[in-house]
Amino acid sequence: MGKITINEKYCKGCNICIEYCPMKIFEQGEEPNQRGYFVPEIVHQKRCTKLMVSKHLKRNVCGLCQEMCPDFAIEIDIYAEEDNNTCQSLTAKARGLVP
Ligand code: SF4
Ligand code: SF4
Repeated sequence: MGKITINEKYCKGCNICIEYCPMKIFEQGEEPNQRGYFVPEIVHQKRCTKLMVSKHLKRNVCGLCQEMCPDFAIEIDIYAEEDNNTCQSLTAKARGLVP
């Protein structure tokens, strides 16, 4: 299935990815991270065109969120085995690293 990750170290919560994703997979984060930024949450990963199609076509499609992110914070691994509908911000919350 693949996996989308937002790297909290780089994300500044500008929400450009939310605006540009045609499949609306991101939503505004509700909790600030340690730097006070509201990192978007990945709520509909399974809708991602890049994850669904790229492996079959053997070329990258879409990737608009990555192109538009000014901080290169979005990673999309089309070969990741794990079907993980989460992102690092949620993982960090689970670990108690962010409030
Ligand atoms: S576009 Fe990049 S920096 Fe802006 S909120 Fe999305 S992941 Fe974070
Ligand atoms: S690759 Fe395209 S469909 Fe997938 S999250 Fe980014 S903008 Fe949305």
